[in-house]
Amino acid sequence: MIITAPAKINLALDVIGDRQDGYHEVDMVMQSIGLSDRIQLKTGEKIGLTCTNPQVPADRRNLAWRAAELLQEVARERHGKTLGVEIHIEKRIPVAAGLAGGSTDAAGVLIGLNQLWDLGLTTEELMRLGVKLGADVPFCILQRTARAEGIGEKLTVISSRLRCSVLLITPDVQVSTAMVYHSLDTKGIRKHPDIQGVIAALEAGDLERLCAVWGNVLEEVVLEKFPEVAGLKRLLQDFGVHSALMSGSGPSVFALNVDENQAKAVKAALPPTWFCTLTEFQQ
Ligand code: ATP
Repeated sequence: MIITAPAKINLALDVIGDRQDGYHEVDMVMQSIGLSDRIQLKTGEKIGLTCTNPQVPADRRNLAWRAAELLQEVARERHGKTLGVEIHIEKRIPVAAGLAGGSTDAAGVLIGLNQLWDLGLTTEELMRLGVKLGADVPFCILQRTARAEGIGEKLTVISSRLRCSVLLITPDVQVSTAMVYHSLDTKGIRKHPDIQGVIAALEAGDLERLCAVWGNVLEEVVLEKFPEVAGLKRLLQDFGVHSALMSGSGPSVFALNVDENQAKAVKAALPPTWFCTLTEFQQ
Protein backbone atom coordinates (compact mmCIF):
# COMPACT_ATOMS: atom_id res chain seq x y z
CA MET A 1 0.00 0.00 0.00
CA ILE A 2 1.26 3.46 -0.93
CA ILE A 3 0.20 6.53 1.07
CA THR A 4 0.80 10.14 0.07
CA ALA A 5 1.51 12.29 3.14
CA PRO A 6 1.27 16.04 2.39
CA ALA A 7 3.20 18.84 4.07
CA LYS A 8 1.42 21.86 5.57
CA ILE A 9 2.08 25.57 5.64
CA ASN A 10 0.73 28.09 8.17
CA LEU A 11 -1.29 30.89 6.60
CA ALA A 12 -1.51 32.32 10.12
CA LEU A 13 0.18 31.46 13.40
CA ASP A 14 -0.71 33.28 16.59
CA VAL A 15 0.34 32.44 20.12
CA ILE A 16 -2.38 33.36 22.63
CA GLY A 17 -0.59 32.39 25.83
CA ASP A 18 1.61 29.98 27.77
CA ARG A 19 0.28 26.81 29.38
CA GLN A 20 1.32 25.07 32.58
CA ASP A 21 2.37 21.93 30.67
CA GLY A 22 5.00 23.77 28.60
CA TYR A 23 2.85 23.86 25.44
CA HIS A 24 1.53 27.15 24.05
CA GLU A 25 -2.06 28.11 23.39
CA VAL A 26 -2.13 28.79 19.64
CA ASP A 27 -4.54 29.98 16.98
CA MET A 28 -3.46 28.97 13.50
CA VAL A 29 -4.71 28.54 9.96
CA MET A 30 -3.12 25.56 8.26
CA GLN A 31 -3.11 24.57 4.61
CA SER A 32 -2.09 21.21 3.10
CA ILE A 33 0.13 21.49 0.03
CA GLY A 34 1.08 19.24 -2.86
CA LEU A 35 4.62 18.56 -1.60
CA SER A 36 4.41 15.18 0.11
CA ASP A 37 6.26 12.15 1.45
CA ARG A 38 5.50 8.77 -0.09
CA ILE A 39 4.99 5.99 2.43
CA GLN A 40 4.99 2.31 1.55
CA LEU A 41 3.32 -0.09 4.01
CA LYS A 42 3.79 -3.87 3.78
CA THR A 43 2.45 -6.39 6.27
CA GLY A 44 5.37 -7.91 8.23
CA GLU A 45 6.22 -9.90 11.36
CA LYS A 46 6.92 -6.85 13.53
CA ILE A 47 7.36 -3.09 13.08
CA GLY A 48 10.29 -2.11 10.85
CA LEU A 49 11.19 1.21 9.22
CA THR A 50 13.49 2.51 6.51
CA CYS A 51 13.79 6.07 5.22
CA THR A 52 15.55 7.60 2.22
CA ASN A 53 16.81 10.51 4.37
CA PRO A 54 19.60 9.46 6.79
CA GLN A 55 18.85 12.54 8.97
CA VAL A 56 15.55 10.94 10.01
CA PRO A 57 15.69 8.35 12.83
CA ALA A 58 14.69 4.88 11.57
CA ASP A 59 13.60 3.53 14.96
CA ARG A 60 11.07 4.20 17.74
CA ARG A 61 11.98 7.91 17.71
CA ASN A 62 10.30 8.14 14.30
CA LEU A 63 6.70 9.35 14.65
CA ALA A 64 5.60 6.91 11.93
CA TRP A 65 6.92 3.99 14.02
CA ARG A 66 5.06 5.30 17.09
CA ALA A 67 1.87 5.60 15.01
CA ALA A 68 2.22 1.92 14.08
CA GLU A 69 2.68 1.01 17.76
CA LEU A 70 -0.53 2.85 18.67
CA LEU A 71 -2.52 0.90 16.07
CA GLN A 72 -0.81 -2.35 17.10
CA GLU A 73 -2.56 -1.93 20.48
CA VAL A 74 -5.92 -1.39 18.76
CA ALA A 75 -5.30 -4.44 16.54
CA ARG A 76 -4.51 -6.56 19.62
CA GLU A 77 -7.89 -5.59 21.12
CA ARG A 78 -9.80 -6.14 17.85
CA HIS A 79 -8.08 -9.20 16.42
CA GLY A 80 -6.43 -10.68 19.53
CA LYS A 81 -3.00 -10.87 17.87
CA THR A 82 0.09 -8.74 17.34
CA LEU A 83 0.40 -7.46 13.78
CA GLY A 84 3.53 -6.04 12.15
CA VAL A 85 4.36 -3.70 9.28
CA GLU A 86 7.38 -2.73 7.18
CA ILE A 87 7.29 1.06 6.71
CA HIS A 88 9.36 2.72 3.98
CA ILE A 89 9.38 6.52 3.86
CA GLU A 90 10.46 8.26 0.68
CA LYS A 91 11.28 11.61 2.32
CA ARG A 92 10.53 14.53 0.02
CA ILE A 93 9.51 17.08 2.69
CA PRO A 94 12.52 18.90 4.20
CA VAL A 95 13.14 17.79 7.82
CA ALA A 96 12.67 20.13 10.82
CA ALA A 97 11.48 22.82 8.45
CA GLY A 98 8.12 23.97 9.90
CA LEU A 99 6.23 21.81 7.38
CA ALA A 100 4.99 19.05 9.77
CA GLY A 101 7.00 16.34 7.99
CA GLY A 102 7.08 13.98 10.97
CA SER A 103 3.42 14.58 11.87
CA THR A 104 2.23 13.87 8.33
CA ASP A 105 4.17 10.59 8.20
CA ALA A 106 2.50 9.58 11.48
CA ALA A 107 -0.91 10.58 10.08
CA GLY A 108 -0.23 8.60 6.88
CA VAL A 109 0.65 5.46 8.84
CA LEU A 110 -2.50 5.82 10.99
CA ILE A 111 -4.70 6.18 7.87
CA GLY A 112 -2.92 3.38 5.99
CA LEU A 113 -2.78 0.80 8.79
CA ASN A 114 -6.44 1.42 9.67
CA GLN A 115 -7.19 0.02 6.20
CA LEU A 116 -4.39 -2.55 5.93
CA TRP A 117 -5.22 -4.11 9.31
CA ASP A 118 -8.98 -3.67 8.83
CA LEU A 119 -9.48 -1.79 12.12
CA GLY A 120 -12.57 0.19 11.13
CA LEU A 121 -11.61 3.35 13.06
CA THR A 122 -13.41 6.58 12.07
CA THR A 123 -11.48 9.73 11.10
CA GLU A 124 -12.39 11.25 14.50
CA GLU A 125 -11.04 8.17 16.31
CA LEU A 126 -7.81 8.33 14.29
CA MET A 127 -7.50 12.04 15.16
CA ARG A 128 -7.98 11.32 18.88
CA LEU A 129 -5.21 8.71 18.71
CA GLY A 130 -3.02 11.00 16.59
CA VAL A 131 -2.91 13.85 19.10
CA LYS A 132 -1.02 11.51 21.47
CA LEU A 133 1.86 11.67 18.97
CA GLY A 134 1.84 15.42 18.35
CA ALA A 135 -0.42 18.47 18.18
CA ASP A 136 -0.21 18.70 14.35
CA VAL A 137 -1.11 15.04 13.70
CA PRO A 138 -4.93 15.53 13.77
CA PHE A 139 -4.63 18.26 11.12
CA CYS A 140 -2.43 16.00 8.99
CA ILE A 141 -5.19 13.34 9.14
CA LEU A 142 -7.86 15.89 8.18
CA GLN A 143 -5.68 17.76 5.60
CA ARG A 144 -7.12 20.56 3.35
CA THR A 145 -7.60 24.00 5.08
CA ALA A 146 -8.41 24.36 8.77
CA ARG A 147 -8.21 26.61 11.81
CA ALA A 148 -6.30 24.93 14.64
CA GLU A 149 -6.74 26.11 18.23
CA GLY A 150 -5.79 24.80 21.67
CA ILE A 151 -2.31 23.28 21.23
CA GLY A 152 -3.21 22.86 17.55
CA GLU A 153 -5.55 19.90 17.98
CA LYS A 154 -8.94 21.70 18.03
CA LEU A 155 -9.79 21.87 14.35
CA THR A 156 -12.42 23.73 12.34
CA VAL A 157 -12.56 23.09 8.59
CA ILE A 158 -12.44 26.25 6.44
CA SER A 159 -14.31 26.25 3.11
CA SER A 160 -11.50 27.91 1.21
CA ARG A 161 -12.11 29.01 -2.38
CA LEU A 162 -8.48 29.95 -2.88
CA ARG A 163 -6.53 27.83 -5.38
CA CYS A 164 -2.93 28.90 -5.44
CA SER A 165 0.58 27.97 -6.43
CA VAL A 166 3.09 27.98 -3.55
CA LEU A 167 6.75 28.85 -3.94
CA LEU A 168 8.37 27.15 -0.97
CA ILE A 169 11.97 27.69 0.13
CA THR A 170 13.78 26.04 3.05
CA PRO A 171 17.13 27.62 3.95
CA ASP A 172 19.85 25.21 4.98
CA VAL A 173 19.88 26.27 8.67
CA GLN A 174 18.93 24.34 11.82
CA VAL A 175 16.12 26.04 13.73
CA SER A 176 14.94 24.41 16.95
CA THR A 177 11.16 24.68 17.47
CA ALA A 178 11.65 24.56 21.26
CA MET A 179 14.18 27.41 21.13
CA VAL A 180 11.87 29.59 19.00
CA TYR A 181 8.89 29.17 21.35
CA HIS A 182 11.16 29.65 24.37
CA SER A 183 12.50 32.95 22.96
CA LEU A 184 9.00 34.31 22.27
CA ASP A 185 7.72 36.84 24.78
CA THR A 186 4.00 36.06 24.47
CA LYS A 187 2.94 39.23 26.31
CA GLY A 188 5.18 41.44 24.17
CA ILE A 189 3.88 40.33 20.74
CA ARG A 190 3.48 43.54 18.73
CA LYS A 191 1.36 42.39 15.82
CA HIS A 192 -1.07 39.48 15.94
CA PRO A 193 -2.40 38.06 12.66
CA ASP A 194 -6.07 38.73 11.96
CA ILE A 195 -7.34 35.13 12.04
CA GLN A 196 -10.96 36.06 11.26
CA GLY A 197 -9.68 38.16 8.36
CA VAL A 198 -7.60 35.23 7.05
CA ILE A 199 -10.64 32.92 7.19
CA ALA A 200 -12.85 35.51 5.43
CA ALA A 201 -10.20 36.01 2.70
CA LEU A 202 -9.93 32.24 2.13
CA GLU A 203 -13.71 31.85 1.97
CA ALA A 204 -13.87 34.69 -0.56
CA GLY A 205 -10.87 33.34 -2.53
CA ASP A 206 -9.22 36.76 -2.13
CA LEU A 207 -5.43 36.40 -2.26
CA GLU A 208 -4.63 40.10 -1.91
CA ARG A 209 -6.73 40.37 1.24
CA LEU A 210 -5.19 37.18 2.63
CA CYS A 211 -1.65 38.58 2.30
CA ALA A 212 -2.74 41.84 3.97
CA VAL A 213 -3.99 40.14 7.14
CA TRP A 214 -1.92 36.96 7.51
CA GLY A 215 1.06 36.67 9.86
CA ASN A 216 3.24 34.41 11.98
CA VAL A 217 4.25 35.70 15.42
CA LEU A 218 7.27 33.36 15.46
CA GLU A 219 8.71 35.05 12.38
CA GLU A 220 10.15 38.01 14.29
CA VAL A 221 12.11 35.65 16.62
CA VAL A 222 13.55 33.67 13.70
CA LEU A 223 14.36 36.71 11.53
CA GLU A 224 16.29 38.23 14.42
CA LYS A 225 18.31 35.08 15.16
CA PHE A 226 18.82 33.77 11.63
CA PRO A 227 20.14 36.34 9.13
CA GLU A 228 19.75 33.73 6.36
CA VAL A 229 15.96 33.80 6.77
CA ALA A 230 15.84 37.62 6.93
CA GLY A 231 18.07 37.68 3.82
CA LEU A 232 15.69 35.31 2.02
CA LYS A 233 12.75 37.63 2.64
CA ARG A 234 14.78 40.55 1.26
CA LEU A 235 15.84 38.52 -1.78
CA LEU A 236 12.21 37.69 -2.53
CA GLN A 237 11.37 41.40 -2.38
CA ASP A 238 14.20 42.14 -4.82
CA PHE A 239 12.56 39.71 -7.25
CA GLY A 240 9.20 41.47 -6.88
CA VAL A 241 7.70 38.93 -4.45
CA HIS A 242 6.34 41.29 -1.81
CA SER A 243 4.23 38.93 0.31
CA ALA A 244 6.14 36.04 1.81
CA LEU A 245 5.57 34.34 5.16
CA MET A 246 7.46 31.89 7.35
CA SER A 247 5.74 28.55 8.06
CA GLY A 248 5.55 27.16 11.62
CA SER A 249 8.73 27.81 13.56
CA GLY A 250 10.68 28.03 10.30
CA PRO A 251 13.00 28.18 8.59
CA SER A 252 10.74 27.55 5.54
CA VAL A 253 9.33 30.63 3.83
CA PHE A 254 6.61 30.61 1.17
CA ALA A 255 4.96 32.98 -1.28
CA LEU A 256 1.66 32.43 -3.09
CA ASN A 257 0.77 32.72 -6.76
CA VAL A 258 4.32 33.39 -7.90
CA ASP A 259 4.58 32.83 -11.66
CA GLU A 260 6.89 30.14 -13.01
CA ASN A 261 9.48 32.52 -14.47
CA GLN A 262 9.72 34.51 -11.23
CA ALA A 263 10.11 31.23 -9.32
CA LYS A 264 12.90 30.09 -11.66
CA ALA A 265 14.74 33.40 -11.23
CA VAL A 266 14.47 33.20 -7.42
CA LYS A 267 15.66 29.58 -7.41
CA ALA A 268 18.72 30.47 -9.50
CA ALA A 269 19.71 33.15 -6.95
CA LEU A 270 19.54 30.81 -3.91
CA PRO A 271 22.46 28.86 -2.43
CA PRO A 272 22.44 25.41 -4.11
CA THR A 273 21.95 23.55 -0.79
CA TRP A 274 18.63 25.32 -0.10
CA PHE A 275 15.42 23.47 -0.90
CA CYS A 276 13.13 25.25 -3.35
CA THR A 277 9.98 23.96 -5.02
CA LEU A 278 6.88 25.26 -6.75
CA THR A 279 3.83 23.38 -5.47
CA GLU A 280 0.14 24.15 -4.89
CA PHE A 281 -2.66 24.19 -2.29
CA GLN A 282 -4.17 20.76 -1.77
CA GLN A 283 -7.96 20.72 -1.51
P1 ATP B 1 8.15 20.50 14.51
O1 ATP B 1 7.60 21.87 14.31
O2 ATP B 1 7.30 19.59 15.33
O3 ATP B 1 9.62 20.49 14.87
P2 ATP B 1 8.76 20.19 11.75
O4 ATP B 1 7.77 20.05 10.66
O5 ATP B 1 9.46 21.50 11.86
O6 ATP B 1 8.02 19.85 13.07
P3 ATP B 1 9.82 17.53 11.31
O7 ATP B 1 10.19 17.38 9.87
O8 ATP B 1 8.58 16.88 11.78
O9 ATP B 1 9.83 19.08 11.68
O10 ATP B 1 11.08 17.05 12.16
C1 ATP B 1 11.29 17.37 13.52
C2 ATP B 1 12.15 16.27 14.16
O11 ATP B 1 11.33 15.11 14.32
C3 ATP B 1 13.32 15.82 13.31
O12 ATP B 1 14.49 16.46 13.73
C4 ATP B 1 13.40 14.32 13.49
O13 ATP B 1 14.46 13.91 14.33
C5 ATP B 1 12.09 13.91 14.20
N1 ATP B 1 11.28 12.96 13.41
C6 ATP B 1 10.61 11.89 13.90
N2 ATP B 1 9.95 11.25 12.94
C7 ATP B 1 10.15 11.90 11.79
C8 ATP B 1 9.70 11.72 10.44
N3 ATP B 1 8.91 10.69 10.10
N4 ATP B 1 10.08 12.62 9.53
C9 ATP B 1 10.86 13.67 9.89
N5 ATP B 1 11.34 13.87 11.13
C10 ATP B 1 10.99 13.03 12.08
